[in-house]
Amino acid sequence: MVYSFGGGKADGRAEMKNLLGGKGANLAEMANLGIPVPAGFTITTDVCTHYYQHGRSYPKTLASEVAAALAKVEKVMGPKFGDATNPLLVSVRSGARRSMPGMMETVLNVGLCSKTIPGLIAKTGNPRFVYDAYRRLIMMYSDVVMEKAAGIEPAEGQGIRQQLDKMLHDVKEWSGRATDADLTVDELKALVDEFKTRVREVLGKDFPDDPSEQLWGGIGAVFASWNGRRAISYRRIEGIPDEWGTAVTVQSMVFGNMGDTSATGVAFTRNPATGENKFYGEWLVNAQGEDVVAGIRTPNPLNEATKNEQNKHLPSLQTAMPGVYSELDGIRLTLEKHYRDMQDIEFTIQEGRLWMLQCRVGKRTGTAALNMAMDMLDEGLIGKGDAVMRVAPSQLDELLHPIVDPAAEKGADLIAKGLPAGPGGASGQIVFTAGDAVAWTKTGKKVILVREETNPEDVEGMRASVGILTARGGMTSHAALVARGWGKCCIVGAGALTVDVHKRTLRVGGRTFNEGDVLTLNGTRGHVYAGKLAMMDATENPRFVKFMALADSIRAMKVRTNADTPEDAAKAREFGAEGIGLFRTEHMFYGKGSEQPLFLLRKMIVSSSEAERRAALEELYPFVKKDIKATLAVMDGLPVTIRLLDPPLHEFVPTRADEREKLAASLGITATELSRRAEDLHESNPMMGHRGVRLGVTFPEISEMQIRAILESAAELTAEGKKVFPEIMVPVVGLVSELDDQKAIAKRIHDEVCAKCHVAAIPHMYGTMIEIPRAALTADRIAGTAEFFSFGTNDLTQMTFGFSRDDIGGFVPDYLEKKLLPADPFQILDREGVGQLVEVAIQRGRATRPKLKVGICGEHGGEPSSVEFCHLVGMDYVSCSPFRVPIARLAAAQAQLTHPRGAKAGPGTDGRGPVKPKAKAGSGVRGQGSGKAKTKAKAKSKTKIAAKPKAKPTPKKKAAAKPARKTARATAKARAKARR
Ligand code: PEP
Ligand code: MG
Repeated sequence: MVYSFGGGKADGRAEMKNLLGGKGANLAEMANLGIPVPAGFTITTDVCTHYYQHGRSYPKTLASEVAAALAKVEKVMGPKFGDATNPLLVSVRSGARRSMPGMMETVLNVGLCSKTIPGLIAKTGNPRFVYDAYRRLIMMYSDVVMEKAAGIEPAEGQGIRQQLDKMLHDVKEWSGRATDADLTVDELKALVDEFKTRVREVLGKDFPDDPSEQLWGGIGAVFASWNGRRAISYRRIEGIPDEWGTAVTVQSMVFGNMGDTSATGVAFTRNPATGENKFYGEWLVNAQGEDVVAGIRTPNPLNEATKNEQNKHLPSLQTAMPGVYSELDGIRLTLEKHYRDMQDIEFTIQEGRLWMLQCRVGKRTGTAALNMAMDMLDEGLIGKGDAVMRVAPSQLDELLHPIVDPAAEKGADLIAKGLPAGPGGASGQIVFTAGDAVAWTKTGKKVILVREETNPEDVEGMRASVGILTARGGMTSHAALVARGWGKCCIVGAGALTVDVHKRTLRVGGRTFNEGDVLTLNGTRGHVYAGKLAMMDATENPRFVKFMALADSIRAMKVRTNADTPEDAAKAREFGAEGIGLFRTEHMFYGKGSEQPLFLLRKMIVSSSEAERRAALEELYPFVKKDIKATLAVMDGLPVTIRLLDPPLHEFVPTRADEREKLAASLGITATELSRRAEDLHESNPMMGHRGVRLGVTFPEISEMQIRAILESAAELTAEGKKVFPEIMVPVVGLVSELDDQKAIAKRIHDEVCAKCHVAAIPHMYGTMIEIPRAALTADRIAGTAEFFSFGTNDLTQMTFGFSRDDIGGFVPDYLEKKLLPADPFQILDREGVGQLVEVAIQRGRATRPKLKVGICGEHGGEPSSVEFCHLVGMDYVSCSPFRVPIARLAAAQAQLTHPRGAKAGPGTDGRGPVKPKAKAGSGVRGQGSGKAKTKAKAKSKTKIAAKPKAKPTPKKKAAAKPARKTARATAKARAKARR
């Protein structure tokens, strides 16, 4: 239960993060490496699990194990815990297996009490330092242990911590002291007495004067903080399981606040914002670590080489304490070599002696991740596979994200400068509280959260905002770390700003900005502008191209795109798409330039006889052919899967009276007759109604027209010297007979087109979507006719769960909230159920046709964990929207690195049942979800389910759930947008 470290050795190792938490495991590793680490011990995450499973109580022998470990610490360090003459003080810190910066609690200076204070004063000869440490202990302990862990929820701004902070502030004001460090011993002594009185008054209990009681209070509070509000929100956002628990590390205190030869700091072995290979960090003289990370004082730069506009006048550690700096720089190199990755470190200098308090793999922006991976590859520190694993697919998203247009920035109204804590650009309306950020975002607004200082309690508001701006704090403050981890645009420490949260105003240079005013942030430069500036796509960075080429050289699956227009197809090619996996023909009836073809389609739909329908189809034909031909031309040399018309026809019937009249007139019928025909088309359950292949079965002439357009385009382009590979895809198939029925049409049209174009054959493939469970189960028969399968996992998920993809907003949030579902299955493929159908279909299909080509074109094709699944079950390609193509390329390469194909059958294909999802550290999954759900969520602001895959949608809005019937009648336009 307890693992000791210190004195050049440790019980644990870096690999034991699950048991010791990141902090405990890395402290052990550093001790083993001979790096100076204050001795301590770690109580395991298993104890946390026990604590929660047994009514917040500990295993029986824990107390004796802790006592033994404490004795070891005393032996290494010298002083003794609770000793009157030579007292040892300890810190009590949390440590989860994955870093959760600032989300759980810490208590420092534990062990100070009336018995030990005189001894420490005698030992240090520094009563000011001792009373300062004591007032910090009281502030932290009363807040963390006596209030938060006790479940007391004070009114906003009335917490004990805030009350004590105010008292401290008042004392400084009365006594005319500029900083905490200027307070005299007597002032501090009086203050701690007042603190203790206030604690008793507010919390109804005395501040404990017994070191052991303080220690166990601290341990309990850290365990309790695992289930604190902040920690829970963060876990939801980051997808960290509740069961993991936290470890508790108890470590001897070293002090950075013992005078001018003492200091504390936080650093990164390389720049976490840009990836530049320069030691980068911040430090404060005569301070404790909390002063740096809490963003209370704007810290100094670590060295000369990394000074910037904002901090160039401040002293660097390199010049202030050159000896210590060079020792620290040596440790930096040791750690990078050992861990082969950028480390985020915390250190303290106590009277000239350096101590390392923490190291962990540092969070970084997408840009930094890319640059570091490529640099470390060039330096020979890591191999190609490691480099590819170092960038999370979700970080690519950030690399492709907009930046402030440099041209627009030139003449812009620059109002302040701060530290560039999170990359990219963002424009939005300013809000001043996390709650407002969440609420405004829900109404569809883009907001920038403006705060005086970074505060981990704001995590949900930070997540909701497009950008974050603070007046105080440094690059290593908690909120900056969190923002950077998300790749969110963020500027901290913009000192010229005065933020008034009560008045909801921001004052700078004599101007006042109110809530709702628009600002633009350039998070890469740290510049704040008034108003909205133009954004542009991050330009194609050669490093990015090289990195992606590396990934491409590794992956086993191809990556195609879902594109419905020649423009999208061209964009997708730029992103590296190797073909189109889904061309939804119906797209041409929506959006710009669609009036004429839509009118003709409508004419066809409301026709009452085959002759009328054929006449309308003939008029429609040139439009369909033009679109298909242009797309095939753009994809010259690459395959294009063209799907026959899928949606229920009545979706296209006009609802506006004037449109109905125009349509009736063109058909020579009355508006009443048109309404009657439209009414005939109405269905109760259109998602399972007259759609997909069923349209082609009842109206073969619709399939004929489309197939003719495909084959004629192909024949003409081939004659023009282009290489085209059309794949005709039939949707919503459940029976092989449906496919045979349509194949006969395809064959007949093929022969007709060949005759017309004077060619012997037009190369093409004929295949189907697998999106109905019956098709998956009878895949052996279906593959007798189909030459390829493309899994339509949007519909397959809908049909397997029986969850209407248009209506999940009404109930899936509750499923996620109650943990009945681990994630929205329309975003992250459900391996357990839907996945089984996919596996079965592939096995059965390939049993009939060993060379059967298999891909996916549902939204899951661009979501990293689902891409991994596709790799495991042996798909040939995934297909996704153009912007997700790079993400899928990288995810496919990472899947190959983690589960090499060919080496051994993947776990999902060896008959041991469905492939289990694999939690990957650091690889945030940012899916876009079911397109339909996404659009609806946006339109109605009803739920965040589509936009925040790993997070529960909070708060849920039951009232927003729509009756299925109404949803089913969603307009054709909305559906089209949703599909994209
Ligand atoms: C699917 O069902 O997964 C699919 C790609 O088709 P659509 O979303 O157009 O129904
Ligand atoms: Mg479908």
